[in-house]
Amino acid sequence: MPLPIENDKGRTEHWINGPVALSSSTIVHKPLGLLAELTHRCPLGCPYCSNPLAFDAREDELDTATWGRIFREAAGLGVLQVHLSGGEPGARRDLVDITAGAHTAGLYTNLITSAVGITAKTLGALTEAGLDHVQISIQDSNAASADHIAGYDGAFARKRALAAEVVRHKLPLTVNAVVHRANIDRIGNMVDLALGLGATRVEIAHVQY
Ligand code: SF4
Repeated sequence: MPLPIENDKGRTEHWINGPVALSSSTIVHKPLGLLAELTHRCPLGCPYCSNPLAFDAREDELDTATWGRIFREAAGLGVLQVHLSGGEPGARRDLVDITAGAHTAGLYTNLITSAVGITAKTLGALTEAGLDHVQISIQDSNAASADHIAGYDGAFARKRALAAEVVRHKLPLTVNAVVHRANIDRIGNMVDLALGLGATRVEIAHVQY
């Protein structure tokens, strides 16, 4: 069933919420997920970060209302879940409003965070706004090594603290570990750490950059 969506110029367009046939032999299925890179800013400094060397300035980031429109349009296209990411999404002062906009659009909301910048108070507000899931990245199972890789003293402790808050709010938790030569010998320890933090899902990723 075509869905009417108002475009930037105030005109109504119709999107097809289902497989779209581009030709007799090509079918494009509707997208299910949207990765929303809310900012390039991040307090950490992981050496494998995929952020561009020249960050978009804060004033060039999409504003709250624009993200709300994007979420509504995405939902109209058939998107079911949005991954609120960055950089560090906690650097956005309007993260709670952005999350509320995604929730109101009917999307399942997943916060992808380093945990630095998301306080217990912010997590409470995000939960109230409709946050459905949290993913926390860890740099290592060893605190000193994790902080060294992240380039941020105390980051490991903050991750532990936020994970505990996520569990306290009864939100599902994913722990993501990026593996490279400095921590590959501790994959098992990182899985144990994730389980100890209360994760119900663990992602082991390899460095791509
Ligand atoms: S936490 Fe993510 S965004 Fe921040 S420096 Fe590390 S890889 Fe980059």
